[in-house]
Amino acid sequence: MRSFTEKQIRTSFVNSTLRERKELVLPPDFAELDWANLDYLGWRDHKIPSLGYVFAEVDDELVGAVLRRSDGVTRGRPQCNWCEDVTLPNDVVFFSAKRAGQAGRNGNTIGTLVCAGFECSANVRVLPPIAYEGFDREAARVQRIEALRLNVYAFVRAVRLGG
Ligand SMILES: [Zn+2]
Repeated sequence: MRSFTEKQIRTSFVNSTLRERKELVLPPDFAELDWANLDYLGWRDHKIPSLGYVFAEVDDELVGAVLRRSDGVTRGRPQCNWCEDVTLPNDVVFFSAKRAGQAGRNGNTIGTLVCAGFECSANVRVLPPIAYEGFDREAARVQRIEALRLNVYAFVRAVRLGG
């Protein structure tokens, strides 16, 4: 993704109050982010670890969403709904996001399993193992990056549209 300013990110949140947007804590490494190798920006609030934030450019619009970690029980080995990584180099947790507008105020949320530290962009850039003879690992990597983007966009779009 291209790079964005703190102000662009702060004003993009669709499911938070004005106060929450003002108090929003940006990632500690914000100044050194490697934007070119990110498909979305995701981070945990280092003061309130149960909070997470996701930010992406979808349909030429900047959309941020606040996520809350829920303690839903996950059966078996959970897989991140966004990067769909099967080698699981990190924990996967369940987050829910309030939908934008009235729907969210009525308690309508949308949930997803996501890499605990939003490692998805790094995960999909790892060359996948050779699945069979002649397997094109580079093409498979490009496909995974594309799939991650589509998954994140679908989620963010669902939050933005309310419901
Ligand atoms: Zn992931």
